Amino acid sequence: MEKIVSLCKRRGFVYPGSDIYGGLANTFDFGPLGTELARNIKNSWWKNFVQSKDNMYGIDGGILMNPKTWEASGHTKGFIDVLVECKKCHKRFREDHIKTKECPECKGELTKPKKFNPMFKTFIGSVEDESAKTYLRPETAQTIFVNFKNILDSFHPKLPFGIAQIGKAFRNEITLGNFIFRKLEFEQMEIEYFIKESTWEKEFKNWKNQMEGWFLSIGLNKENIKWREHDKDEIAHYSKKTEDIEYKFPFGGFKELCGLAYRTDFDLKQHSKESGKDLKYADLETGEKFFPHVIEPSFGLERTMLAVLAEAYKEEEVKGKKRTVLKINPKIAPRKAAIFPLLANKPELIKKAREVYDDLKEKLVISWDDRGNIGKRYFAQDEAGTPYCITIDFDTLEDNTVTIRDRDTMKQERIKINEIEGYIRKKINE
Ligand code: ATP
Repeated sequence: MEKIVSLCKRRGFVYPGSDIYGGLANTFDFGPLGTELARNIKNSWWKNFVQSKDNMYGIDGGILMNPKTWEASGHTKGFIDVLVECKKCHKRFREDHIKTKECPECKGELTKPKKFNPMFKTFIGSVEDESAKTYLRPETAQTIFVNFKNILDSFHPKLPFGIAQIGKAFRNEITLGNFIFRKLEFEQMEIEYFIKESTWEKEFKNWKNQMEGWFLSIGLNKENIKWREHDKDEIAHYSKKTEDIEYKFPFGGFKELCGLAYRTDFDLKQHSKESGKDLKYADLETGEKFFPHVIEPSFGLERTMLAVLAEAYKEEEVKGKKRTVLKINPKIAPRKAAIFPLLANKPELIKKAREVYDDLKEKLVISWDDRGNIGKRYFAQDEAGTPYCITIDFDTLEDNTVTIRDRDTMKQERIKINEIEGYIRKKINE
């Protein structure tokens, strides 16, 4: 884990938040490569779960919502973490994590459990009183439920259908550490899938397959993921059945990567009651009106990124030397290729390499590197997870061919300049 954290900082994936001020616990900023990786993961998710389906509606809702939302959803009362503190080392833990996940290392005596609501409070307007109080959303799901009627009215979808969203969520987390696994501010990728009650078991199974399938498609290894069902004392107040996919993270073994919850008709009923709006679905064929039930696949962007990085991180020995390489699936790799002039002090090579770079950067996300020797550049690009390195040398000036080197096999091929884009695209879509 330490090696991953250090590589992430060195190569511009993830920096500690407010770094020059000594950081701020559980906050992080993405650097240029982390930003690209995050974007690629979100795009892959969106394409897979929204754009390629004909019954999925994507929205992008606000972080601030009418505080009545959180009364109706049960979050003001039911979204509670129970905290205990170690009397010896004064570290705080979530009581539910003591059993299963994070235990005090010093084995000191624990204080009595204290209840705590992890929603961030804020105030709207200039007077900070109760009437101005609201929250930064702790989950994206509720923005979906409050837009359920809008989607019905605009698109008249038939069950089953889903509303999906990628967006920020905020939780005042008190357990520290584990890098981007647990942040105060993170991104969720969530779907509320509206169904008829009688189909929930079938739909639940179907979503399990789809969720697992997507993780495998972005490069996670099946051996490193497993499903775990929540037992009665940990299940959320709105759920009748919840299962998590756990990933074997490089700290403390299997931990929650994402969740799948059967939320019944809890949320729509609650919002209907509290808002006074009719949130029932009308089945035009049978004439019935009812609250649809909901299956909720809920993904975390940062945990997905961490799993991708952990899966990709490899140390290999090459001709007696150690190389560190991020074997990120080329589909989601931050940059698809790097372009090098063989020598940085030969204007004719630089000119040709620039031409290749300028043309290709319009089509693919690539980078330019002319620092140090070729060996050093390969080393840097391997750590950055760039699947292909393209070198422009003296032969290029004669015959318009380049060397293309594969990150994983380190094999080099000679191809024509006008074949580069097709070559990389073919590999990316594999
Ligand atoms: P945990 O028990 O680890 O706190 P949770 O069960 O509270 O997680 P959910 O409410 O199910 O999490 O949220 C859905 C997803 O959002 C999680 O599976 C995870 O990927 C992500 N997530 C939740 N909290 C955080 C956080 N503090 N930082 C980063 N991602 C998070």
